[in-house]
Amino acid sequence: MSVILYNDTFLTREQGKVDMEDRGYQFGDGIYEALRVYNGKMFLLDLHMKRLARSARELRLTLPYDTDHLAENLDKLIKENKMENGYVYFQITRGAIARKHRFPEKPISCVLTGSVEETSQDEDLHAEGIKASLVDDIRWLRCDIKTLNLLGNVLANQDAFEKGADEAILHRDGVVTEGSTCNVFIVKDGTLITHPANHFILNGITRIFVLELANRLGIPVEERTYTTEELLNADEAFITSTGVRVTPVVQIDDHLVRDGKPGQITTRLLDAFNQDVDQFITETLV
Ligand code: PLP
Repeated sequence: MSVILYNDTFLTREQGKVDMEDRGYQFGDGIYEALRVYNGKMFLLDLHMKRLARSARELRLTLPYDTDHLAENLDKLIKENKMENGYVYFQITRGAIARKHRFPEKPISCVLTGSVEETSQDEDLHAEGIKASLVDDIRWLRCDIKTLNLLGNVLANQDAFEKGADEAILHRDGVVTEGSTCNVFIVKDGTLITHPANHFILNGITRIFVLELANRLGIPVEERTYTTEELLNADEAFITSTGVRVTPVVQIDDHLVRDGKPGQITTRLLDAFNQDVDQFITETLV
């Protein structure tokens, strides 16, 4: 039986009930994070907690308790579920109160819920690459906040799926922003190019980590906007996220990315990423 985190307590999945007037349910008024767990330990935990604190600040949402205590609770959640490999998901909403758009006048308690999903250790590896589809980015202008409001992403993802693709690559008037669930990188003439971390994209934890790996490997990086035309003419393309590490994009709609095979720089970054995951797993054994 799976165990969930509910505010500061642990319940069975069946006991975890959220009020119908919860603002997360009614408005998507809340934030979330999803972390990868390898060998029972959360990967890149500090970066996720930093981003959570930022999302909370941007939405003027007071966390029910500090991120150190939250990390302890998530650790317990993993142990309670005896999970070795998989994901931890948690969200925090502004709480439950009679429906009104404006914030509650008197402070009410946030509602924090967390759960785990067990997978195999390498479930997030797709080294052979995926097919993507270009979709209009119709989302709001604060995509940098990891909010529960994901309808623009949901519709784009479904659109891509119905076109036979694994992921949607979003663009605003021909400028590539990110994927529906990931960040997007291209490689041109040996340089790694990705959209700058501003209000148009979520600054992915994996994106941050991959930029660090590129720096370590001496791969030149440009954080700048690029067009769908540059994407289609790129030497390589790949996506990054907690759920897919570094995954090559080998086809975009009917167009092959170069020869339709994972590129060299993509593969170098993926290998470096995997080595760091292996090292992380080894360290957790000590
Ligand atoms: N961009 C969007 C829209 C996402 O939903 C995600 C992941 O959920 C990412 C980027 C990648 O973020 P991360 O690397 O932190 O998983």
